[in-house]
Amino acid sequence: MKDTLRHKGKRNRLAETVAEKGITDPKVLDAIRSVPRHLFMDSSFEDHAYQDKAFPIAAGQTISQPFTVAFQTQLLEVSPGDNILEIGTGSGYQTAVLLEMKARVYSIERQLELFKRTSLFLPKLGYRPKKLIFGDGYKGLPEEAPFDGIIVTAGAPEVPRPLLAQLKVGGRLVIPVGGATQTMTMFTRKSAMEFEKKEFGEFRFVPLLEDKN
Ligand code: SAH
Repeated sequence: MKDTLRHKGKRNRLAETVAEKGITDPKVLDAIRSVPRHLFMDSSFEDHAYQDKAFPIAAGQTISQPFTVAFQTQLLEVSPGDNILEIGTGSGYQTAVLLEMKARVYSIERQLELFKRTSLFLPKLGYRPKKLIFGDGYKGLPEEAPFDGIIVTAGAPEVPRPLLAQLKVGGRLVIPVGGATQTMTMFTRKSAMEFEKKEFGEFRFVPLLEDKN
C-alpha cells in the first residue's frame, strides 16, 4: 500500500483532466488530487488508476470514472459537516472523496464481499465514515435521516421514494435514472412536499438492484 510522488503527479494530471471536462469546484478538484485511487483497485490495474476511466472491482462491480465521481460530488455542493448518504459503497473511492470534503458520510452496500472488504480498507487509509451499512440502499437510512445530500452511485430504473423522503429541506438527491444508460438527475427539496428536478446528461452505471425480500 504505497503512495508515492509519482502517484501524486499522476493525480494532479487527473485533476487537470476532469477540470478540462468541466469540473470547477476547487474542493472537488482537491479531493481528486488527494485520494490515492490506485489503492482502491486491484494491483494489476494500478497502471490505469489515474486514467479517467471506470474499472472492474470485485463481485462484478466497478469503480466509477473519476469524472463521474467529481461530477456527482460537485452537484451535491458538500459543505463541511454535512450529513451525506451514499448508496453503493463499492470500492469506497467516492466515500473517500466525500470524506476529503469533510462530510459526515453514511454509505450502504448490498454485496457482502465488497461491504466487508471496504469496511476494513478505508480505516487503513485513515478514512472514517460515520457508518458503513450492509443492506439495501433503496430503503435509505431512516434512522439517520434527514440528510443534506444523498448520492446514488448505481443506475436506478426508478427513483426510490424513501430517498426523497429522507432529504432535509434544501437537501439534494443526485441519482442516475434509467436502464442501460441513465440520465444524471438532481432533486432539490424545496419544502415538505415540493421537489425541483434538473437533468444533466447521460451516464452509464452498473444497475441499482432492489432486494425484494
Ligand atoms: N461508489 C462506488 C461505485 C461502485 S458501483 C465506487 O466509488 O467505487 C455501484 C455499487 O452499488 C456496487 O458496489 C453495487 O453492489 C452497489 N449497489 C447496487 N444496488 C444497490 C442497493 N440496492 N443498495 C446498496 N448498494 C447497491
